Amino acid sequence: MMNWVYSFTDAAAANLGKEQLGGKGHSLALMTQGGLPVPPGFTITTDACHVFHDNQRALSEQMIAEIETAVAELEAKMEKRFGDTVSPLLVSVRSGAPISMPGMMDTILNLGLNEDTVEALARQTGNSRFAYDSYRRFIQMFGDVVQGIPHYKFEQNIENVKADAGVQEDQKLDAGHWQMVVQRHLALVERETGKPFPQDPKEQLLSAIEAVFDSWNNQRAIVYRKVNKIPDELGTAVNVQSMVFGNLGDDSATGVAFTRNPSTGENGLYGEYLVNAQGEDVVAGIRTPKSIQELAREMPEAYNEFVGVCNHLEGFYKDVQDIEFTIEQGKLFLLQTRNAKRTAAAAIKIAVDMVNDGVIDRETALTRVDIEHLSALLHPRLDPDAQVTVLGSGLPASPGAVSGQIVFNADDAEALAKLGKKILLVRTETTPEDIHGILAAQGILTSRGGMTSHAAVVARGMGKPCVCGCDSLYINPSDKTCTLGNHVFNEGDTLSIDGSTGRVILGEVQHIEPKISDEFTQLLEWAEEVKRLEVRANADNPADAARAAGFGAVGIGLCRTEHMFMAPERVPVVQSMILSRDTSARKEALNKLLPMQQEDFYGILKAMDGYPVTIRLLDPPLHEFLPNLETLIARQTELKVRLEYNPDNADLRQHLTETNEMLATVRSLNEVNPMLGHRGCRLGMTFPEVYEMQVRAIYQAAADLVKDGYHPVPEVMIPLAGHVAELRRMRKLVEDTAREVQAERGSSVPVVVGTMIEVPRAALTADEMAQEAEFFSFGTNDLTQTTFGYSRDDAEGKFLQTYLNDKVLQDNPFEVLDRDGVGRLIKIATSEGRKAKPQLKVGICGEHGGEQHSIAFCHEQNLTYVSCSPFRVPLARLAAAQAAIRA
Ligand code: ADP
Ligand code: MG
Ligand code: MG
Repeated sequence: MMNWVYSFTDAAAANLGKEQLGGKGHSLALMTQGGLPVPPGFTITTDACHVFHDNQRALSEQMIAEIETAVAELEAKMEKRFGDTVSPLLVSVRSGAPISMPGMMDTILNLGLNEDTVEALARQTGNSRFAYDSYRRFIQMFGDVVQGIPHYKFEQNIENVKADAGVQEDQKLDAGHWQMVVQRHLALVERETGKPFPQDPKEQLLSAIEAVFDSWNNQRAIVYRKVNKIPDELGTAVNVQSMVFGNLGDDSATGVAFTRNPSTGENGLYGEYLVNAQGEDVVAGIRTPKSIQELAREMPEAYNEFVGVCNHLEGFYKDVQDIEFTIEQGKLFLLQTRNAKRTAAAAIKIAVDMVNDGVIDRETALTRVDIEHLSALLHPRLDPDAQVTVLGSGLPASPGAVSGQIVFNADDAEALAKLGKKILLVRTETTPEDIHGILAAQGILTSRGGMTSHAAVVARGMGKPCVCGCDSLYINPSDKTCTLGNHVFNEGDTLSIDGSTGRVILGEVQHIEPKISDEFTQLLEWAEEVKRLEVRANADNPADAARAAGFGAVGIGLCRTEHMFMAPERVPVVQSMILSRDTSARKEALNKLLPMQQEDFYGILKAMDGYPVTIRLLDPPLHEFLPNLETLIARQTELKVRLEYNPDNADLRQHLTETNEMLATVRSLNEVNPMLGHRGCRLGMTFPEVYEMQVRAIYQAAADLVKDGYHPVPEVMIPLAGHVAELRRMRKLVEDTAREVQAERGSSVPVVVGTMIEVPRAALTADEMAQEAEFFSFGTNDLTQTTFGYSRDDAEGKFLQTYLNDKVLQDNPFEVLDRDGVGRLIKIATSEGRKAKPQLKVGICGEHGGEQHSIAFCHEQNLTYVSCSPFRVPLARLAAAQAAIRA
């Protein structure tokens, strides 16, 4: 009985699955048992990896005994022996995790070679060039992976021998040269480790296995797992496999092929190979590989067999395969197959094609696409025909393109974004303290940091375009300037970045809207057949509403009205409304705002004609529309000083009076904790005339639309209500005002009033709230804040990252809905609310509405709809379908 080690031929292995054998080991066992030509070998399980790490990184005696048994079996099968001077056994030692992590961990080839066996290999093959080439590769890989000797030192040896021999390419080196490389490699190892290179194949094997287990925790593997959300607990398996040689001459080759094109999805073999080469040579770019189609001419027999194998494997796995193969003296061997990584566009085409070919059904196709991955297809791109000035380039860290005003710190980014500006945050690199700036910005540009830097990881997570590590960018944060090429830029200048290519471009660039392919449209149609949730969009203006409708949104779940107050020409009117000393002065200002709001609502209702548009009455605290306190104090001081020198300047005096008044108002509105302060329906309760104006604007716009032949369906939403009495009063206000308009206009657009549920009390008294509401909409951003008692900006800026790193929280609750706490409130509110009013519509708005795990939760709770940003509407439709299929 083996506990840790399974031969590829072991029937039990096929049943163990990827969890324990790793993806590679599992596929090798399946292929072997399916009769495909796979070099024999065995797999050491991920369980052994866990025990190894728990056991101070040591293999247990039983593991070693099992490995020795498996080696003995392999020796018998191959009729070769470790260390044999006639017919030596050579193996590869390969990592293989349950989830494929290409290139992240280590593999060692040609293990078993030493002073003696290299001679035997030369005699056996009659090819001593091959034997020494294989030996030097083994020393390199073992030296690198097991002994930690930097790779470049080995490369240096090869370069030196090439220089001595006067040749440019590895191909031109002969047996004697490789023998010379081997001597230098052995000397290098001895210098670096203080010991000779290990000659005993068993010792080599055990060290290599340990090193592969260790490589689970190398830096690049850790980062890869973090970026791809792969659990650290999985561990890796190790595969020990007898070697086959693609470097045995011109009738040998090694290559990689995909059963379909992984970047376009086109159906047909796609791949590359190299003649007389081994392992990673193809990807390492030493020589230019040939296209797989060439193999049909060069080695027709092997090629035809390979085509057959590819069809077989694709049929078996019912998915596109990424296959590693080697041809040794004309004979084909398979070394790995796995489901191919593919671009978002290819994923869609392949899924749809496979349905049309009858390979998979529609539901399988819908679950095949990775929702997050697809978001890249939905971002606007730079117009490829636009004439642009490229100023520099960095890493394409997060796709999508954006033009924006540059800002050099997170606070400024946040402040300017509040004024409705499009911001490009430009930093040397970002840290968790910048998170509010990243949230506020449209895109991020850094001068340092790689694809896995903070900026890159966070931007990808948020789906914002990002270019990282733009070396030619120099930032001077203190005077808020930067230089790029020979240009100097100030804060507020406009630059564009293309996160798909890494280009940084002067000024504003034309964007083109993303286009949804025919296959994508097809997949979305299938999604409609299975999904239960409706998908609406969050949109505050007609353009976004129209875009959302184009993406298949069946309404607007959240139309925020505060942005409409922020337009530069409106700010003075809004401010005079706030500064009014009495109700009649306030009404006068509101009367000026009324036609503007009416126009906004007209446009949005028209763009969503026939579908419901949920309009939320004013929500943020009023001081957000006024200048901030520090700015005003500075202005006041400056004016006082100037007046001392010019006491007779009437303009200055007037200006000071106004500033004093503004300052007094700002001070009076100043709040200790604005998040829990005078906002939401608390504004409507104390300044009902503001809400009356908004309601009037909504129903006047609706009346106009009906007259113009449209079918507006407005729904008025009360924000932040926590007590039924608030809701009762606000609902009466809405109904009274709407009725007034209807009487004036003779219109009859139905009046629908609902409430956001964003404080726990509202959720807990949902039965009462439902009496006064036609619908509930969970504002999960505020509901998360009020349930956790976190203010989002403070949390994300100060401690949340630590919580996530330390695994105190599994996910950021502002990104992935917290099922146990916030989710529980949603559950209570939905069931209590519907008990009181069975036809109650219940939806969720806020960023969670576009996030797949949160959407799955909404499906499980039988919500009516989710609402998300327009670009995420197609993703939410697919996620809703996936949730229905998986439930
Ligand atoms: P990765 O997971 O990084 O792809 P692999 O374990 O697949 O690493 O191995 C790296 C390379 O070595 C691949 O090209 C593979 O085909 C080749 N290779 C692995 N084992 C053998 C073997 N037994 N004989 C010949 N080539 C091998
Ligand atoms: Mg591989
Ligand atoms: Mg809110």
